[in-house]
Amino acid sequence: MSRVRIDSSACVGHGQCAMMAPEVFDLDAEGYAQLLVDGDLDDQGEVDSRNAASACPEQAIVVE
Ligand code: SF4
Repeated sequence: MSRVRIDSSACVGHGQCAMMAPEVFDLDAEGYAQLLVDGDLDDQGEVDSRNAASACPEQAIVVE
């Protein structure tokens, strides 16, 4: 099982993550990423999270 986390110090709020994995990421009121998932990702969540991590220009998403 995998988990995802956001490096909040690196996130600058591009929003690609929320577009690519809307079941995992949302944007807060300031436009920064926040997680919608607490705990292990399901298979689709892992795939989408890895795609979002690849798309994040700041490399602020870590799937582990
Ligand atoms: S794509 Fe990266 S920088 Fe943009 S909101 Fe998501 S985590 Fe933050």
